[in-house]
Amino acid sequence: MAGVTFPASNAVDFLVIGAGAAGGVIAKEVAVAGFRVVVLEQGPYLRDADFSHDEIKYAFLPGLTNDPRLQPITYRKSEADRARPVKAIEYGRQVGGGTVHFTGNYWRFHESDFRERSLFGAVSGADLADWPIAYSDLEPYYTKAEYDLGISELAGANPFEAPRSKPYPVPPMPVKGSGVLFDRAAKKLGLHPFPAPVAILSRPYQGRAACANCGFCESFGCEMRAKSSTLVSVIPVAEKTGRCEIRPHCYVRKIQTDDAGRATGAIYFDRDRREIFQHAKVVFVCANGAETPKLLLMSKSKRFPDGLANSSGLVGKYLMWDNGAPAQGLFEHPLNEYKGIQVTRLIHDYYAADPKRGFYGGGGIDARFDFYPAGFALHGLPPDAPRWGSEYKKMFETYFTRTMMLLSHTTSLAQAKNTITLDPEVKDDWGLPAVRVTCDYHPDDVATMKWLMAKQIEILQAAGAQKTWSQPYDIADNMPSRHLMGTCRMGHDPRSSVVNVYSRTHDVPNLFLVDGSNFVTSGRQQPTATIQALAYRAADYAIQATKRGDLG
Ligand SMILES: Cc1cc2nc3c(=O)[nH]c(=O)nc-3n(C[C@H](O)[C@H](O)[C@H](O)COP(=O)(O)OP(=O)(O)OC[C@H]3O[C@@H](n4cnc5c(N)ncnc54)[C@H](O)[C@@H]3O)c2cc1C
Ligand code: SF4
Repeated sequence: MAGVTFPASNAVDFLVIGAGAAGGVIAKEVAVAGFRVVVLEQGPYLRDADFSHDEIKYAFLPGLTNDPRLQPITYRKSEADRARPVKAIEYGRQVGGGTVHFTGNYWRFHESDFRERSLFGAVSGADLADWPIAYSDLEPYYTKAEYDLGISELAGANPFEAPRSKPYPVPPMPVKGSGVLFDRAAKKLGLHPFPAPVAILSRPYQGRAACANCGFCESFGCEMRAKSSTLVSVIPVAEKTGRCEIRPHCYVRKIQTDDAGRATGAIYFDRDRREIFQHAKVVFVCANGAETPKLLLMSKSKRFPDGLANSSGLVGKYLMWDNGAPAQGLFEHPLNEYKGIQVTRLIHDYYAADPKRGFYGGGGIDARFDFYPAGFALHGLPPDAPRWGSEYKKMFETYFTRTMMLLSHTTSLAQAKNTITLDPEVKDDWGLPAVRVTCDYHPDDVATMKWLMAKQIEILQAAGAQKTWSQPYDIADNMPSRHLMGTCRMGHDPRSSVVNVYSRTHDVPNLFLVDGSNFVTSGRQQPTATIQALAYRAADYAIQATKRGDLG
């Protein structure tokens, strides 16, 4: 498709690095507001016909995600350990980023998420802090995201939901077998199950088709365009303005600054690995909670010797992990959970942290089935099942159709020792340093998962499970982390945060960072709704500031 192209030597109004959940939103907002924008995305620009239902390609190989063969990741539990190459983090690597293949769970934060330090108090060994903004600051932008992208759910169905200014634009998805059993069991236990808010269309919306329940959803792209990725929702709107150029296969290695300390653009490798410098008046980095700090750390210069926007020393610090644990149950009758989207029912009864529990933390629990046939054959059966032979085959046949999972999504405490840094030894295929992840659970993270696991088993049993099983709690069992949060913290004070309340860096006036890196706390996972609300808010601010002449 021929679109607008801008010469690299002319400064565009906005440069966006990363065309994912946040980058797609920023591109659309600034283009619609009349500005010229170039979006540099390291991955390809895929179309509907590029997606298939190939489990090996997408669930085992990095069909849509970062490829450790080209861009290795190293991991260690603590600074004392030697980092070893392992795919510790996973993110979508294409136009649309993680929204192309994500599960689509779209949870707004609760009001309490923004002030847990005040509500709960300090947690030893962690840096639990309040956000510098309140839920009410983000509410209009959550609503904007839900309407622009297309989110299905019923307003008010979740009794713990924060106030909202508008109902959802699309009704909830039809309930699955797991949802029916979960709903009944949770109600029996006095809990409050509700339909899952998802970035998946239950009805045609804005020219896109409704979900066909094809069953290849999590980890797959949607050839129906029913998954509300930025690829099929906001990015086409941005391109239609004639002011937005999406440039795929462009891997940014450095953000340049001038003598005055302002960003002037970015140097990237194009598809043929030639180095190009794109000039820009304002730069938005939306490369996610791992790649954004990596890029800032690689962008050091004489003026910024510790990395760009890093006068606080906090770039890369406070990485928060994708915490949660699965419990599975076997049922008498077939549930055929492999059909349809992953999640249709969940609870937020245990969401709020409660000091009476003796530890910080809380979570949501949803009913789902996270397996496709080959994955289930390898990892889906209970730990005591035989690994081969006729008994194994019989079990596979029975369990594949009769199993469901309750998955918790739990808090991850911000700890200064959990970081993204540049690996001093391992390089990627372009000769750039690999992302090095240093991360381990806080004891309260583990306590929360264990506490919720007892609730998950209780619900499975109330639902009539004949047998239940779960997994141990080691961070290695919870890899890769797909929710990359907290590495360029938002705050008022430049000494204790990297970006301000509008995601603008304290150090470089025309540089914004908008993605999971802004998070001060982890909520209860499912960060994308909040990432996109932050993106709408930052775009709104940047547009007004540019019009006033404060930025460009
Ligand atoms: C299998 C899976 C299921 C998930 N399910 C859910 C869910 O149900 N709910 C939920 O809320 N979240 C889910 N997530 C997480 C969700 O995808 C992310 O939270 C979200 O996409 C993050 O948005 P972002 O804007 O921070 O970054 P991304 O969407 O990751 O976008 C960043 C983009 O920047 C590009 N990029 C990075 N570095 C560079 C560079 N140097 N140069 C150029 N481009 C670059 C990347 O290729 C990517 O396209 C899931 C993730 C996975 C992997
Ligand atoms: S289950 Fe629905 S939203 Fe998911 S990939 Fe299939 S058609 Fe698309």
